[in-house]
Amino acid sequence: MSRLLSLFSSRSFLCLITFTLAAVSHLALADSSISRTRTVTKLAENVYEIRHPDAPDTFPQGNTTVVIGEKFVLVVDSCLMPSSAQEDIEQIRKWTNKPVTYLVNTHWHFDHTLGNATYAAAFPGIQIVAQRATTKMVAGFNPGAVLRYPSRAEFYKKILDSGKLPDGSALTDARRRDVERSFNGTSVVVAELKGATQLPPNVVFDHELDIDLGNRPVQIKFLGRGNTAGDTVVYLPNEKILAMGDLLDHPVPYFYGGFFPLDFVETLRAALKLNVETIVPGHGEILHGTAYVQQVMDFLTAVNHEVEKELNESKTAAEIEAAVPKAIDLATWREKFCGTDANDLDTFDGSVSNLIKIAYNQIRMR
Ligand SMILES: [Zn+2]
Repeated sequence: MSRLLSLFSSRSFLCLITFTLAAVSHLALADSSISRTRTVTKLAENVYEIRHPDAPDTFPQGNTTVVIGEKFVLVVDSCLMPSSAQEDIEQIRKWTNKPVTYLVNTHWHFDHTLGNATYAAAFPGIQIVAQRATTKMVAGFNPGAVLRYPSRAEFYKKILDSGKLPDGSALTDARRRDVERSFNGTSVVVAELKGATQLPPNVVFDHELDIDLGNRPVQIKFLGRGNTAGDTVVYLPNEKILAMGDLLDHPVPYFYGGFFPLDFVETLRAALKLNVETIVPGHGEILHGTAYVQQVMDFLTAVNHEVEKELNESKTAAEIEAAVPKAIDLATWREKFCGTDANDLDTFDGSVSNLIKIAYNQIRMR
């Protein structure tokens, strides 16, 4: 489904991660890029992470982090579906009677921001905080993207009717089931999003914003570009917890859409300088330690380095796309990230294919 995914990206859709029949028992303990259930994890006293199930059309929803101080409550990312955001709000009210005062958007992708309005309705006066570039995109791009959401149904229908993927390849039975699932779920999502509005952030920062929630300092940081131009991390220095948005997705890194492979490495390097024990990725399970950050950084470095080397040898874009996977021993990386999970492997392949293209463009323009 990765080819579908990249096509969606090029049409300014965010991402499309599909279901497969991957519920094989020996993989039960492994994380997957598919999320079927809502899970709540206590990370420290009064700090929680909520992982959401993918939307009915398989569109992924970003993770949410809740930080409760003695005076204020701060939430990181408001996910996609207003109904999921509402469920989170009800959960937060069970944890505390203090209102949510701060909501941080880690980046502009609407699977992390569309719940903003639901929070604002529940907590009037809420401060929605984002980096300047993120604020611009949430306000300028997302309202149109939400309006265009129903066109996804036509896209799926065209594939099902023609029996062909957008690149012209035949639709296998397994992929047909994936597309049918997305198609069938789209009407549910569209119905819910009909009344949804993308509320933009109302507190803008450039580099860093420190907030004390009451005996609970929180540092909101822009460490550099990566997945987007305004990626923001939220750091709890006392608890050594870091929420990273889509700078870090587990188990498959997200290299879709327009992003910045060269900056990405430096931004992750800056994140590694923080004293971190627990990481909340944008999607996927809670991570302990920083080994996975290092793995993603090493992988990006390997790709960037090889693309640059090939460019210096005056190879064409097509030649580079063909040469890089062999030169960096992509098979080993695939296994390291995905094991044998067919869906994750497919998602990874699409992600890497886009990474090589974008790295080529960024390095060439330097
Ligand atoms: Zn996301």
